[in-house]
Amino acid sequence: MAEYTKITPELAEELKAFVGPGRFFYAEEVPDDYSRDEMPIYGTHFPEAVFEVESTEEVAAIMKYCNEHKIPVTPRGAGSGLVGGAVPLCGGVVICTTRMNKIINYDMNNLCVDVQVGVRLCDLAADALSHGLMYPPDPGEKTATVGGNVSTNAGGMRAVKYGVTRDYVLSMTVVLPSGEIMKLGRSVCKTSSGYSLLHLICGSEGTLAMITELTLKLIPAPECDVSLILPFADLETAISAVPAIKLANLDPQSIEFMDADIVASSVAYTGTSVFPTEVDGDEVGACLLVTLVAGSEDELDMRMEKFAEAAEEFGCMDILVVDTPSLKKDVWAARSSFLTAIEADTKWLDEMDVVVPVDQIAEFLGFVRETGAAQGLNIRNFGHAGDGNLHIYCCSNTMEEAEFLEKNKIVMDLCYARCQEIGGQVSGEHAIGHAKKQYLLDSVGETGVALMAGIKKVFDPNMILNPGKVCTNI
Ligand SMILES: Cc1cc2nc3c(=O)[nH]c(=O)nc-3n(C[C@H](O)[C@H](O)[C@H](O)COP(=O)(O)OP(=O)(O)OC[C@H]3O[C@@H](n4cnc5c(N)ncnc54)[C@H](O)[C@@H]3O)c2cc1C
Repeated sequence: MAEYTKITPELAEELKAFVGPGRFFYAEEVPDDYSRDEMPIYGTHFPEAVFEVESTEEVAAIMKYCNEHKIPVTPRGAGSGLVGGAVPLCGGVVICTTRMNKIINYDMNNLCVDVQVGVRLCDLAADALSHGLMYPPDPGEKTATVGGNVSTNAGGMRAVKYGVTRDYVLSMTVVLPSGEIMKLGRSVCKTSSGYSLLHLICGSEGTLAMITELTLKLIPAPECDVSLILPFADLETAISAVPAIKLANLDPQSIEFMDADIVASSVAYTGTSVFPTEVDGDEVGACLLVTLVAGSEDELDMRMEKFAEAAEEFGCMDILVVDTPSLKKDVWAARSSFLTAIEADTKWLDEMDVVVPVDQIAEFLGFVRETGAAQGLNIRNFGHAGDGNLHIYCCSNTMEEAEFLEKNKIVMDLCYARCQEIGGQVSGEHAIGHAKKQYLLDSVGETGVALMAGIKKVFDPNMILNPGKVCTNI
């Protein structure tokens, strides 16, 4: 176990000199937000000091100093993570990147963009569109930083067609725990040049190096798109339609699912009702939200026709076309509100972000619901049906904290074990942090975790970077 140095007022005076005025916070000046992410149920831990950095050189100087003095360093973007990844378990310093928010340069010939790591996903997406380009990764929390997205290998709504964040990272500048600055990868379309350190850093959750700049791949923005809402009698029928939708050869950009209960929470939260609750007097139990894209209106019409023809097999009650800009905005705003809507009407909540084979989704969700009910927990779910990534929430409004934690653990243990049995993985996109470490160990085994810990040790022999996360204990 590593021994760390506490930041005394004398050390704090030295640290303060690494950044300009107003960008260093020490002791009681540290704002509360830096003690947690979006899942405070996993515990709050205050850093001793916080830096709001503006350049790679500042990060390098801080890291070198902390390595020499054995002070823990936790990288942080927007703090929107859901597994406690940016929470400084051992105190030390947090390096926050949100001021490193510049979009540096577009390379229109090689279809890529250089950015500082703290640029927000929503700002990059909008700016790329103004250049006629699309940054395909589209995780739900648009105010997350792209650095946080790369560090968690975030997925999102469009992963079913375009893949995940890692697939769009061409190169990056990183600062190693020693303070050395390195460039990994190049702006090329392919490479077979030794172990891919670039891809290793993607998804490493700030445990191997701190990313400061990124070159990200872009694609020409699709000319047109349409979203289709498919209401179903129940969730099982909705989920069962997914393989058929994929086999229809229409390459949907997204296939999201939501049950009636989540839709009701979203209506209560947003005040906007966009998903149907009944069709011809029959109650809707769940919906799929499918998006098709095309290079022209004619091509899109053809795709929609083909979709409608294939729909007989899907078992849906209707197909509602979401084609006007304001309707699209409302529908996707409602979809993006689901987690916040659940949080708004739930006292205690924990989350699973498992990914399972697509043909196992319905069976797995049934298992989770039964397991939750047996412990008196309310199970709520939505997610990315097209790629089997499920966001499942164990909730209670009636239990006291201790009872909730006990029952929740029983449900989580059983469900992660079941996920493993059916060929799933612990996390599809939210990552491991410190909250899901036990389930990672159960899933990849001691040898798997030992290999990860060995890699960590090579990058970070003093164990200063984000200790206690993914594969290390404190
Ligand atoms: C409402 C809501 C919806 C969400 N929807 C999705 C979704 O659809 N898909 C999805 O994948 N996630 C989703 N998330 C989770 C979250 O937004 C992502 O995990 C996101 O990638 C975190 O980015 P961040 O900037 O907030 O990072 P943080 O939470 O600050 O950090 C996350 C991890 O990355 C590390 N890190 C951050 N910056 C750096 C850096 N520069 N160098 C090295 N390590 C770094 C941190 O140490 C930490 O381990 C959602 C969250 C919320 C609240």
